[in-house]
Amino acid sequence: MKNQEIARALHEISVLLEVEGKDKFKPRAYARAARSIESLGEDVEAVARRGELESIPGIGKAIAKKIEEYLDTGTISHLEKLRKQIPIKVTELESIPGVGPKTIKLLYDNLKITDLESLEEALNAGKLEGLPRLGAKSIAQIAEGISLVRGGMSRTLLAEAMDVASRLVEYLKQSVSITQIDVAGSLRRRRETVGDIDILVNSPSPEQVAAAFVSYPEIGEVIVKGDTKVSIRLKSRLQVDLRLLPAESYGAGLQYFTGSKDHNVRLRALAQQKKLKLNEYGLFRGDTAIAGRHEEDIYDQLGLQFIPPELREDHGEVEAAQADQIPALVELSDIRGDLHSHTDQTDGSNTLEEMIEAAVQLGHEYLCVSDHTKNLTVANGMDESRILKRIDEIDEINNSGRWPIRVLKGAEVDILPNGELDIDDSVLSQLEVVTVSVHTMMRMDRAAMTERVCTALESKYAHILGHPTGRLLLKRPGIDIDLEDVFEVAKKNNVVMEVNSYPQRLDLDAGNIRLALRSGLKIAINTDAHKTFELDNMRYGIFQARRGWATASDVINTRSVKDLLPLLKK
Ligand SMILES: [Zn+2]
Ligand SMILES: [Zn+2]
Repeated sequence: MKNQEIARALHEISVLLEVEGKDKFKPRAYARAARSIESLGEDVEAVARRGELESIPGIGKAIAKKIEEYLDTGTISHLEKLRKQIPIKVTELESIPGVGPKTIKLLYDNLKITDLESLEEALNAGKLEGLPRLGAKSIAQIAEGISLVRGGMSRTLLAEAMDVASRLVEYLKQSVSITQIDVAGSLRRRRETVGDIDILVNSPSPEQVAAAFVSYPEIGEVIVKGDTKVSIRLKSRLQVDLRLLPAESYGAGLQYFTGSKDHNVRLRALAQQKKLKLNEYGLFRGDTAIAGRHEEDIYDQLGLQFIPPELREDHGEVEAAQADQIPALVELSDIRGDLHSHTDQTDGSNTLEEMIEAAVQLGHEYLCVSDHTKNLTVANGMDESRILKRIDEIDEINNSGRWPIRVLKGAEVDILPNGELDIDDSVLSQLEVVTVSVHTMMRMDRAAMTERVCTALESKYAHILGHPTGRLLLKRPGIDIDLEDVFEVAKKNNVVMEVNSYPQRLDLDAGNIRLALRSGLKIAINTDAHKTFELDNMRYGIFQARRGWATASDVINTRSVKDLLPLLKK
């Protein structure tokens, strides 16, 4: 789906027009159109095919034309022209927290800053001080943002990388004859962000595979083209390494290139103890390969249970495999419902009915609708009377039998800075699933933040702690909080920890999921969907939960609604 790409392009036009400064209204029109496409509840291409682009709020004839141009050609000529006139790397600069269109214009007009590098130079030279409308606090925020972006610059979100990889795999399969193809590396281990993509192929005609690979339409440049390894950089800057492997060592290559490095070091040491040698070509006794064709055989010959890629981090999985104690990790097919979703009642894009319909399509047995509450004014959070109205609406839907799904009455309730919830107990008591989350005042110190969240968990009606650290991957670190304390209080108060499937969140992270489970807590894997198609993000939460060693019984929403609801009782 190209919604996000198009929204980005329209937004970039709005910023460049703003910098150009010729017209007051056009930048706003493009910004509005970008937001409209970004929050559109369906594929913009489908809308275009129906000829209904202009029915989208904020999209007039001129912008509709540009969207069509993008869908046809992958770019917008107006944008290309603006980029030539004003060489600002908008996306790069805006990736820095605290830098928006106004700041970009200010930096360009006064200091001719066009990208991250020139901004960093100006910052280090003290040139930002003394700029109009840019206080010391903003400058400090920009400095912090730059180091965050620098740290994550070469990384891509798992969800995005998986999309790129599966398109490329499809393309190769269509183009040439392939016997086996796998994506390896950190992507196969489902790390939350990845540095590059590794693709392994076995084919009767490796030269043709390499040729097809370097003529992939999304390619930016060829880095290396050898007989067994070809590396390219895509237009999106992401690097992809293709390795051509013979069938007899395919499994060994898959094991080797999946990693992690630390996991492989452990395996090689284990092989040595058994007087064997393990490398990317196979497992050898002397010169004889005793495994290599299939990855499972390598583990088997080393006396290990098969280790799922998500666990291969040398975090105890080798010992567990030796003792036959690798858990049966939770799978997507175990999930029976979703406990966190939003509608257009607050900041979601789709109606209640559309969300329900989409959850039915996914085969869910239940969907909890958990819109925001009144403290979150930017999301048009609900007050008590709106929640009560919502409860009636849901009762009516459930009683009507219109959909073969149980809609659960919920809310994502704001945790106020003092730890109180922003909704009255008399209303909370009527909800079936109350998720409590921190959305505001995220920069409190560790002691105060821990106290704040722990107080909230003590509420009689807090069932689930939503996205417990509030981090946004590659964008902002989480809140400063002592999760061990939080887990202890959660255990006492029977509060479930959320694993949020939103690709930018994936919060809790793997280490903390494991810690939560060890503390005796249960988790809920939820999508936090704000659009119908985001209900499909569940798999990313599953990957994360697997990386945290979670089994189906650790996850409350693998249960039927009848078994689930009693688990939430205090
Ligand atoms: Zn939230
Ligand atoms: Zn939410």
